[in-house]
Formats: sequence, structure tokens, C-alpha cells
Amino acid sequence: MLKTLLSPDTCAECRNCCIFEEKSAWEVPAFPESAVRKLKDKPEYKIRKDGTKFRIELPYGETHSAQPCPFLNSQTGCTLSPEEKPFACSVWPIRIMTDSCGRPALTLYNGCPGITSDMIPELKKLLDSGLRERIFSELKRDPTLLLPYHPNYIFL
Ligand code: SF4
Ligand code: SF4
Repeated sequence: MLKTLLSPDTCAECRNCCIFEEKSAWEVPAFPESAVRKLKDKPEYKIRKDGTKFRIELPYGETHSAQPCPFLNSQTGCTLSPEEKPFACSVWPIRIMTDSCGRPALTLYNGCPGITSDMIPELKKLLDSGLRERIFSELKRDPTLLLPYHPNYIFL
């Protein structure tokens, strides 16, 4: 998460992160091998390789109810180390999506109450201070960060 802009109080009240409805399963990030190895005794999670990373299929079953990320502890939050945590999680609610010309572009999830429209100038300042370059250089290392455009996001 973009901790420099997000208020811990807003996040604590919202708690929308790290839990995925079935229709949002495409938003589950890709994980490094060291993280998915921790799921070896949990056959309910189906895992498949995607480039150098791994995708986890969450067990929606017949109830189709929202599922937490397997690395979420409901009391303490994310249990992965900073090295294992997907880069996508560290920059949430920013994502990289393809624009109308098929090029990678930065987008913001418009359902995050932690970054409201009046905060966009501040967010852009943060991007201009080096974050934009960092995100695009991560994309070169990890193409799984690029997602198709979804209307829940606005281009930055
Ligand atoms: S959606 Fe936004 S406000 Fe809600 S928990 Fe996630 S980062 Fe925090
Ligand atoms: S890896 Fe951590 S931060 Fe990312 S979705 Fe899972 S619990 Fe949340």
C-alpha cells in the first residue's frame, strides 16, 4: 500500500484490501516462489507459474464468497516479509494497465476511500518524485504487473 499517503485509520475502517471477491480474482497479485512454497500443505490453493512468478487460485468453492489472500492474518495483516510481498501490494491502489493504445499506464482504483480525488495532485507529486520510474522499472523485471484495463480504475 502507498503508506506515505494512506491513513492507517481509514484503512482500519475500510479493510477492503487483501480480500478478493470472485469477480475480482484477476486482481490477486503474482507471488514469488518463496511465498507459494508456504502453501505446499494447503491443497485448496491451486498454483500455476506465470513468468518468473506464481499465480494462486483462491478456493471460492460453491459458496463463491470473497476469499482472503492466503498470506493475510486477519489480526496482524500481511504475513509476508518485505522481500516476498508482491510489488503490486506495495503500490496499491495504483496499478499498471494498458491504455487505449495498448501501452502500459498508471491507474488508480477509484473505490479506495484512502485516496480521494482531492488527493490526486499529492499522489502525482509522489509519482513525479521517482515512484513512476520505480514502478515502470519493476514492470520491466516483472511483466505480470501489467493488467488489462478495468473500468473501476482511472488513468493517472
Ligand atoms: S481500499 Fe484503500 S482505504 Fe481501503 S484498506 Fe485498501 S488501501 Fe486502505
Ligand atoms: S500479499 Fe500481503 S499485502 Fe498482498 S494481498 Fe496478500 S496479504 Fe495483502
